[in-house]
Amino acid sequence: MGTRTLVHNPPPEVNFKENFSTPNLLHQSPSILNLLNSKCTDSLQNLRQVHAVILKTASFRDHYVAGSLVKCYANPQFRSLTSSLQVFQQVSAPNVFVFNCAIKGCLDNEEPANAILLYLEMVNSGSRPNKFTYPLLLKACTMVKCIAEGLQLHCHVVKFGLNGDKHVISAAIQMYASLGHIEEARNMYHSNEDSDVVCCNALINGYMKVGKVEAARDLFDKMLEKNVGSWNIMVSGFAKNDMIDEAKKYFDEMPVRDDISWSGMIDGFNKGDRFREAMEVFTQMQEAGVELNRFVLPSVLASCANVCALDQGKWIHAYVRSNNILLDEALGTSLIDMYSKGGCIDLAWDVFEKMEWKEVFPWNAMIGGLAMHGRSQEAIELFSEMTKRDIKANEVTFVALLNACANSGLVDEGLNYFKTMKQIYHVEPMMEHYGCVVNILGKAGFLVEAEDFIKTMPMKANGAVWGALLGACKVHGNVELGESVGEILLELEPESSGRYTLLSNIYAKAGKWDKVERLRGLMKERGVRTVPGMSMITDIKGDVHMFKVGDYSNLRMKDINLMLDKIIQRIKLHGYVPHTSEVLLDISEEEKETSLVYHSEKIAVAFGIMNTKLGSTVRILKNLRICEDCHSAFKIISLIYEREIIVRDRARYHHFVGGQCSCRDFW
Ligand code: ZN
Ligand code: ZN
Repeated sequence: MGTRTLVHNPPPEVNFKENFSTPNLLHQSPSILNLLNSKCTDSLQNLRQVHAVILKTASFRDHYVAGSLVKCYANPQFRSLTSSLQVFQQVSAPNVFVFNCAIKGCLDNEEPANAILLYLEMVNSGSRPNKFTYPLLLKACTMVKCIAEGLQLHCHVVKFGLNGDKHVISAAIQMYASLGHIEEARNMYHSNEDSDVVCCNALINGYMKVGKVEAARDLFDKMLEKNVGSWNIMVSGFAKNDMIDEAKKYFDEMPVRDDISWSGMIDGFNKGDRFREAMEVFTQMQEAGVELNRFVLPSVLASCANVCALDQGKWIHAYVRSNNILLDEALGTSLIDMYSKGGCIDLAWDVFEKMEWKEVFPWNAMIGGLAMHGRSQEAIELFSEMTKRDIKANEVTFVALLNACANSGLVDEGLNYFKTMKQIYHVEPMMEHYGCVVNILGKAGFLVEAEDFIKTMPMKANGAVWGALLGACKVHGNVELGESVGEILLELEPESSGRYTLLSNIYAKAGKWDKVERLRGLMKERGVRTVPGMSMITDIKGDVHMFKVGDYSNLRMKDINLMLDKIIQRIKLHGYVPHTSEVLLDISEEEKETSLVYHSEKIAVAFGIMNTKLGSTVRILKNLRICEDCHSAFKIISLIYEREIIVRDRARYHHFVGGQCSCRDFW
């Protein structure tokens, strides 16, 4: 970094220059500072102009001006940390303020390692760190997950006599708690006499992070003074620990709520797959007159995406536009995600193009969306555009990219990306990436290669990886391999009903009813319950309807069934033949046919055709994979009812139009 050499030595014992700067050294400084703080926070062009003025007027010698300039360039929106650090290098004998600005800039741009290097430079230069320096550095250690450096910093804190400062202490508590050193965090909290609400919140947060929910609750109950942050930590902490009802209880009891409270509760419901309740909180939020700003909207959009509530999502997008809400990374990314999950990949694309500042997240969302929609070539092109613009790909990027390859049978490309992700892009492959490769090979029919690949993995393959191979065995009708993979899976995940179902399907397809029966016995013995297939559809009014087999809670079920029968009759005339091998049980062909008819996604389609405008798109969300039978039925329905049907299942999207599906039957 830069021209000064970094010496990785412990800080010198003496010889600190008391580097107090002299603000207002130059007469123009206050107005320059004003300009920097008011005109340069959202325009890089303005910033460059003010920078030129600073150089001309020699006010750069003022450390406050120089530091502020460093700070302005480090605005993550500008993606110009390099410029910021270049400016920093020009400052002669930077004081602590200038150093702090540069360190904070590194953190804001997610470069915590650089922040720590700057600290070394600072100490070696004889500049004395102050109480603003350490909270930043302790946060940097949390970000890079380095407890050793954190401990050293803590020693420096003591050495420089800053161990009484509550911001420093609370940052140290947060660091210890986040890195799982909960005992140290607790000791710090208790040994410090004036631990305040900030420290207490940090410790509660730490407890929640490591799953010590009761300890968190206990501390919270004992707090004499609570702020909205304390409540928020409880709500999101419970949600993190899968205690959504408890989260809701605390949310309801909160005396005051802020943005984080609302979005925390909505995120909690989203995380627990309770999307309907998430939408209810959103309604409650609107009724309470809460301003919908860019901080709460991403959570709301995530709920819309999860229930395919496209109309609500569009409403929010219109709201964003008409209220001139800044389309920042988080909001833009959630809009892209909402549109692509809602089946409107082109609208997602529009949002993507309109975003001015794009770091890795929107790119990932867009590549992932294209991949799920089977538009693999575009996903790949977008990735190369991304690398051309020097945007650093991360783990998520490669999951999206590999999925794109899997969805279109691009075996060579996929294997190549897998190889280069570490070599060229320095992203270490994780379990998920191995799973993607197995999926790529398996889907394309290279079952043996997929199995060999699993054997070469540096870590023990998990259920998802083997599951990908089992799925491939089903598609390619390889009973023998399916059986051995199935055995491994039943041992690895004896509780997971999906694995039993998949293996049963393989047996059923091969007509091995005795084995199907044995599996059923095994499930009973182990008390494994199957997940019922459920389909969700959002009507014009935005109400979410959920259908599952044998559930007659929908009042109009009788009408829906009549409609469904009519549909089946019509498509049979157009060549629909039920795939009875999709039915698990060894029952008569006629009975099999009936149980196929009442698959939840078929019920949802019937409901959709009845309750939406003629010719409009029917959007369905299914919790499991769509079965082959429904898939072939929907193709014909799309043709004779002239409806576009979009099904988002657990794995991907299917756009049925005019008798064809976008997946080209490859899924
Ligand atoms: Zn089905
Ligand atoms: Zn399809």
